[in-house]
Formats: sequence, structure tokens, C-alpha cells
Amino acid sequence: MRAIQMTAPGVLEQVEIPAPTPGPGEVLLNVGAAGACHSDLHILDAPAGVFPTPLTLSHEVAGTIAEVGAGVTGWSAGDRVAVYGIMGCGRCRACLRGLENQCRTVPVGGIGISRDGGLADQMSVHASRLLPIGDLDFAAAAPLTDAALTPYHAIEVARPALRPGNWCVVIGVGGLGHMAVQILKQTTAVRVIAVDSRPAALDLARRLGADETVQAGPDAVERIRSLVGPPPGGADVVLDCVGVDATMTTARNVLSIGGRLMLIGLGGGTTPVAAVADSPPPVPFEAVVEMPFWGTRAELYEVLALGREGLIHSAVQTFPLDQTIEAYRQLRAGEIEGRAVIVP
Ligand code: NAD
Ligand code: ZN
Ligand code: ZN
Repeated sequence: MRAIQMTAPGVLEQVEIPAPTPGPGEVLLNVGAAGACHSDLHILDAPAGVFPTPLTLSHEVAGTIAEVGAGVTGWSAGDRVAVYGIMGCGRCRACLRGLENQCRTVPVGGIGISRDGGLADQMSVHASRLLPIGDLDFAAAAPLTDAALTPYHAIEVARPALRPGNWCVVIGVGGLGHMAVQILKQTTAVRVIAVDSRPAALDLARRLGADETVQAGPDAVERIRSLVGPPPGGADVVLDCVGVDATMTTARNVLSIGGRLMLIGLGGGTTPVAAVADSPPPVPFEAVVEMPFWGTRAELYEVLALGREGLIHSAVQTFPLDQTIEAYRQLRAGEIEGRAVIVP
């Protein structure tokens, strides 16, 4: 079968490999769609030894069950499913609470990160990772498993601060950010300010319901401040879906006292957290800075429900499997609107 693999750090290739055989408890999936996440670019850019090679990329997968392995009950060939990408130990305190994204035993990873993912004709996956998608399109369902699940989890964590009339700033309206805007508008009554460096992304944010849009750049803090008001007030929540120095600086400079800064993007940025009496300190008093990771299985169930009810929509640009390398080129160049999704 065809697969798109990172064969060495920075090297992405289309290869022919044998189709996997589902082990006990696993199913074989015919991949219906697999999303291309910016994290895949970080994986490609990482030094040798951080991620295994060869590695079939994509941690956003939906498809049809082709075959069930020994001992699998409750699923049959032909079922249409989405894949929850994390495999926690199931026994630690976090897993017992349903927080497999905080598993104390299994290192951070998942399908397409620490083991083969969905950029292939077929993949095998443990049956416990599957959720039904009803009649959702595969290309719409795949991004729900990460591009939507990750901001949904961050919004769940920050929900006590997402009160009606409060302000939430979403920085970066790509794969994750375009879902964040919709989830905020559908599940809260906050006012949403979307920030991006690309005018096309701001257009998308407006079409998806953002109340205000702000072009990233030297004037961004002033523009956002003109909306959220001066310190010690400000944005109640910032979802930084980029995570570079510039966005983290913007984020902390518009955050309210007691605000929540959710660092979702993994762009390699840093920002000072300083215990100083200066007014104002770099991160405001009473503020919380968090680094949410992906989401829980229960949250994916809820995200799929939002998708099936037509309340959130994946904006996708689809590519055939043979065009995957071109899709990643466009993602890196900032040419994708919403999510690039590969439909084998
Ligand atoms: P993407 O490329 O689809 O979107 C990024 C968006 O940010 C683009 O619209 C781009 O124009 C915009 N942008 C880039 N630099 C900017 C800047 N300086 N100011 C304002 N806007 C800027 O990426 P994505 O797939 O949505 O992923 C976003 C980030 O989230 C990546 O770093 C990814 O690794 C990370 N991520 C984290 C988790 C997690 O669990 N924490 C999960 C998935 C993805
Ligand atoms: Zn991702
Ligand atoms: Zn665990």
C-alpha cells in the first residue's frame, strides 16, 4: 500500500509498504481522510532521535473498518469511524479520570507521532480508539479529531473564564484557530477577536463568526486594547494557536488581570513570567498560563456531536495522497485556508 513517511529527520517521502495486519484488539481501517497538521512540520523539523523513523504521519484520521482483529467486539467491517489519537496506559490516576492526554506513564505522543498514523491507504488501530461519525464526510470528520479537539479541550479548561460578554482572543486562524472561533461562538457567549498575519485567514474568521479581526503586527496590541479596554482589565482568555515570541508577547500584553493564557501553538516561543512588583508585571497578576495538550476521548465525543449537528464545520482543502508533499509545502507557505486534508 502507499504511505507518506518521514524516513529521516526533515525527509518526507511517498513509499510502498505492506498493509498492516490488525493485532488482537485492533481493527484495520481503510483511511477515508487524514489531516495535515502544523505539528507534522514541527515533527519533520525536530532533531534526530526525538521521533521514530520511518514514521507514517497524520494524527487526524477518519475511515471505514475493513477488518476486525481477534477479540474485538462491538465493531464490524463497514463501520465509519474517527480515531482518537492518544493511547494512555488506562491505569494511572490521570487515565482513570479520563485524562489520557495527561497520562503519567505513556510519554506524550500518539498515532502519527510516536507510531504510524493515517497518511496511507490503510492503518491498524486499537478498537478502543474509535468513535462513530455517523454520516459525516471523512474529510470533515478527520480535522475534528485534533484541529477541533485541541481548541475544544483548551476552551473546556478555560470555560469558567468564558462568561457571557467576556473577551476571548484567538491568535492564528489556521487549522486549529478556525475551529476555535466556531467552538467559542457555538458553546459560549463571549466576544471573539481573531488575530492572524494573513488577511485571508481574517476573512475566514469573519465568515465563521468572529466579532472582530485584527491584523497581526506592531499595532495589534493597541487595536486589541481599544476593544478590550486598558489594564488591569483586558482579554479574559487568549488562545495562542501559534506560540512564537511575537504572539506570546501580544497575548500577555492584552491579557486581563486574572486572565487565562492558553499556549496551544508549539512554535518554539518563550515569554517572561516574572515575579516582580513593576506595574504591570509581564504576565498580569492572578493570570494563569497553561499548555493544553490535545484532548480527552469524552471531549472528542462532544466535538463529533457538534460536527454531526452541523454546529461546527471543517473548512478543508483536499488533496489526493499522491499530492501530500505538495499539501505540506502549501501548509508551510501559509497557503492553506482552514485544514489541508488528504483523501487517499
Ligand atoms: P496552521 O499552519 O494551520 O495555522 C497557523 C495560523 O497561524 C496560520 O493562519 C498563520 O497565518 C498564523 N500565524 C503564523 N504566524 C503568525 C503570527 N506571528 N501572528 C499571527 N498569526 C500567525 O497550524 P495549525 O495546524 O492550526 O497548528 C497551530 C499550532 O498548534 C502549531 O504550532 C501546532 O504544532 C500546534 N498544535 C498544538 C497542539 C496541542 O495539543 N497543544 C495540537 C495541535 C497543534
Ligand atoms: Zn495536530
Ligand atoms: Zn495513564
